[in-house]
Amino acid sequence: TDRLAPRMARFSASPTVAATARANAARAAGRPVISLTTGEPDFDTPEPIVEAAIQAMRDGQTRYTAVDGTPRLKQAVIDKFARENGLSYGMDQVMVSTGAKQVIFNAILALIGAGDEVICPTPCWVSYPDMVKLAGGTPVEITCGPETGFKPTAQALAAALTPKTRAIMLNSPSNPTGAVLSADELRALGGVLKDRPDVIVICDDIYEHLTYPGTAFATLAAVCPELKDQVLTVNGVSKAYAMTGWRIGYGGGPAWLIRAMRVLQSQSTTNACSVAQAAAVAALDGGLGTVHARRDAFLARRDRLVACLAAMPGLQVRAPEGAFYLWVGIGDRIGTRLPDGTRIADEAAFVDALLDRHDLAVVGGAGFGASPYMRMTFAASDAELDAAMDRLSDFLASLT
Ligand code: PLP
Repeated sequence: TDRLAPRMARFSASPTVAATARANAARAAGRPVISLTTGEPDFDTPEPIVEAAIQAMRDGQTRYTAVDGTPRLKQAVIDKFARENGLSYGMDQVMVSTGAKQVIFNAILALIGAGDEVICPTPCWVSYPDMVKLAGGTPVEITCGPETGFKPTAQALAAALTPKTRAIMLNSPSNPTGAVLSADELRALGGVLKDRPDVIVICDDIYEHLTYPGTAFATLAAVCPELKDQVLTVNGVSKAYAMTGWRIGYGGGPAWLIRAMRVLQSQSTTNACSVAQAAAVAALDGGLGTVHARRDAFLARRDRLVACLAAMPGLQVRAPEGAFYLWVGIGDRIGTRLPDGTRIADEAAFVDALLDRHDLAVVGGAGFGASPYMRMTFAASDAELDAAMDRLSDFLASLT
């Protein structure tokens, strides 16, 4: 490892990827593991989208595209932002990358240097703090607990701002908590930035279309038009259209930032996959019928699981307003004992025992910056979810 660059010591591999790998290893060893670790819809990509990709291949759309995306897809992105979010962007204010992840990566690398601070309301998606560290910056956590529904408040944001703050990460609906920021809450957060035109807000809206009844999705650039020039609105097709493997994400923001992100991408991956871009056009232009039907399926699973978990003693659970994760407090079970007398000393011991003894894989909260919690995805089949609840219940019943 002394042959690796110093930057490799600044960040670590994604804990969700690691948890999935552990589950897969146990499975490969012949164990009947159920994995509720990944953030991936269990549905297939809708057929018309697949057809559009096949057609694109036949039509010879198999070459490099413009770095920032095909004109066709950029137009579809512009239309999407206008139609669904009331946001108006020009062709030099949007770009397409290999997943929302690369959009965020490009933005952080373009904006953040040594000593710069990026505010991350926590718990947050595992990759934000590590990307900031990779860029040489410092992630600054705002701890968001159950008392605020795991959401950042304007006061907390104001207290975390320093002259070194260069960016703020906002993610609503949130991975891992499912919390959704209302328009009013966004307005309050935006108010804090009145005198800070130097701070960029990266709004990760990847779970936009997975919000449940009683909750309305809102995004900062639309709610606070006066801030639009300092907001990068990030979205993608992975979660809404069950297209995680196609790797298409996109962003809209000020032209100077998009230009810098384009230059960065031109020296790394060039363009996102041409065929996947054609598929993404079909997804964005194809209406939200399938998206809404699937959201309703997720809603039914959410409700079943929340009822199930609420009946298990010693777990703290609330119904997520969006996304497809359950964020479950396990504090009351820390310190209990396994049947062989071993003490469950911490969150990791709980998560490990659940996998080792009951073949159920979940992700510990530590990877998202908050313990003791576990994150369970409900993007899994009903049969798997039922079996998972049985296993969890057996595990809990075995603890003394
Ligand atoms: N942002 C959040 C909060 C996510 O949970 C994920 C995927 O897990 C992504 C972004 C990345 O999405 P994409 O597949 O578009 O790279």
